[in-house]
Amino acid sequence: MTPAEAATAHGWRRVLAFGAHPDDLDFGAAATVAGLTRAGVEVTYCVMTDGDAGGFEPGDRHAINERRQQEQRDAAVLLGVRDVEFLGERDGYLEPSHEVIAQVVALMRRHRPDAVLAMHPERDWSRLQRSHPDHLAAGEAVVRAAYPAVENPFAYPELAEQGLEAFRLRWLVLFGGPAALTNLVLDVTGTEQVKLQALRHHVSQHPDVPRMEAFVLQAMADLHRRWSPEKAGDDEQDDPAGAVRYAEAFHLVAVNDESTISGF
Ligand SMILES: [Zn+2]
Repeated sequence: MTPAEAATAHGWRRVLAFGAHPDDLDFGAAATVAGLTRAGVEVTYCVMTDGDAGGFEPGDRHAINERRQQEQRDAAVLLGVRDVEFLGERDGYLEPSHEVIAQVVALMRRHRPDAVLAMHPERDWSRLQRSHPDHLAAGEAVVRAAYPAVENPFAYPELAEQGLEAFRLRWLVLFGGPAALTNLVLDVTGTEQVKLQALRHHVSQHPDVPRMEAFVLQAMADLHRRWSPEKAGDDEQDDPAGAVRYAEAFHLVAVNDESTISGF
């Protein structure tokens, strides 16, 4: 399934995406995001920290903030992302506090997305670097906002008083979690190079760009190989010999559907 096919199948017209640091969303999902925006889906990014603990150069951390925000905006433009919001939390200190959750709820209610794309709140023990504490905190804040706060008008009542009405979110699309939870693998062949271009915009984070690009491409190719239908014996979708295909992997959660009863 391609990102465009997933959008059609699940009714994604508007997607709000949350990452902890500038570059997180691009590492985890840029090829999918590019596929969605090309299919006409409206995607907005929210970066929760200012990324001031990232990079490899000592120096003015305020200048680093501004540089990383600009890098993220440039990458987002390339991917067709409509807008980038920054919550301005301190890098390395993110917690799923009520103050942060309320900001996430406010953004969700303002954008009223069909799907929220976010980092996974559960740790991937096979590659601990993916599970930076800020990533887990970002995921936890988003999941707590998705249920129950965004749909409960009495949660953070000041938001409803500001006219930000409660609504029921349909889908959570989480990335970077344990592989055992993967249940949605999207074929992003055709936008894998756009992902590399987007990642290249985060120049302050990459001491070795060719090595980073090789790693990212290999990871996407490995995901496709691991999850491709051919592996299960269905060889109807065979590509021309030697053609490499790429994928990004997610944990899709139906927050609300026809069968949902509030509180159960
Ligand atoms: Zn990060």
